Amino acid sequence: VTDQAALNPSAAIDALPPLRDVISAFGLDADKRLGQHFLLDLNLTHRIARAAGDLTQGTTLEIGPGPGGLTRALLSCGTSTLIAVEKDSRCIAALETLVTASGGRLTLHNGDALAFDSTALGPGPCRIVANLPYNVATPLLVGWLKTIARYESLTLMFQREVAERIAAPVGSDAYGRLSVLTGSLANAEILFDIHPRAFTPPPKVVSTVVRITPKPQAPTIDVQALETVTAAAFGQRRKMLRASLKSLGRDPIPLLEAAQIDPTARAETIDIAGFQRLTEAWKALYRV
Ligand code: SAM
Repeated sequence: VTDQAALNPSAAIDALPPLRDVISAFGLDADKRLGQHFLLDLNLTHRIARAAGDLTQGTTLEIGPGPGGLTRALLSCGTSTLIAVEKDSRCIAALETLVTASGGRLTLHNGDALAFDSTALGPGPCRIVANLPYNVATPLLVGWLKTIARYESLTLMFQREVAERIAAPVGSDAYGRLSVLTGSLANAEILFDIHPRAFTPPPKVVSTVVRITPKPQAPTIDVQALETVTAAAFGQRRKMLRASLKSLGRDPIPLLEAAQIDPTARAETIDIAGFQRLTEAWKALYRV
C-alpha cells in the first residue's frame, strides 16, 4: 500500500470501501452530543479540500474526521502530512484502514480538539480544514484566532448563521463579538453553502464553508482584552455604549472619550478600528 500511495496518492484511498459501508460496519450511529452529521458526497468533500489551497507542503490539521469523508478527500488532494483529531473512539477504529492507505501521511489523535496542543503540528506552514462539530465550533475558532499567525489558512464549515456572524460587516444585523474578534486578526471569506440533505443525518440548518486567513501585517492585539470589551458592548447590543459598557464595572464616559467614540452610539455601529481604540483605552485607564 505504501508504494502504491507514493506513486498515486489517491489510488489506495479510492480502493477503500464506500463510506456508508464503513458507517454500518463500525456502527457509527450519529451521536448528537458530538454534533455528528457526516458528509458522504465525494464531490462536496473534494470541493472543501480544494478550497483549502495547496496541501502538499507543511501540515494540515483536520478536526472531527468522523468516518473519514473529508479526510479521504484531503489525502487524495495530495496532503503531505495530515493530523486528524477525533473525540469519538468508534471513528478512530473506523479510520485505521485509512491510516494504512495513506502511506504514512495520516496520524490520528483520539481526544478533544479543545485540548489539542497545536505545538504538535511541528514547524512549517500549517492549515486547518474541518467540517466542525457545531457545539464547539465557536470556542475552537476563538482559540485558533489567538494564534492565527501560526496558520496559513483555516477552511471551516459552520452553520450558516455563525458563518455570517464571522464575516459580518459593521452595521449589519449579524455584526457582533465574533465579527470584531475575527476581523481584528484575519480576513474571512464566505465560500459556499451546503444543503442539509448532503449530510447523514441531515442537520436542521444550512452549512457554510468559510476561509479565514491571517491579516498580512499581523497587528498586536490583546485578544483577551478585546473579548472582554466586545462581550460588554454586544451583551446589550440595543443599548447605547454609555449604558452597555457599565458592565465593565467602571464609568464608561472617560473610556469612550479616550477612544473618541460617541457615548450615545451602539456597538453595532463601531468598526473594528473603533473597538481596537476602545480596548487600548480600557487597558490604559482601567485594567489592573
Ligand atoms: N468530518 C466528518 C464529515 O465531514 O463527515 C464529520 C463531521 S461531524 C459534523 C463532526 C465530527 O467532530 C464528528 O466526527 C464528531 O465525533 C467530532 N467531534 C465532536 N466534538 C469533538 C471534539 N470536541 N473534539 C474532536 N472531535 C469532535
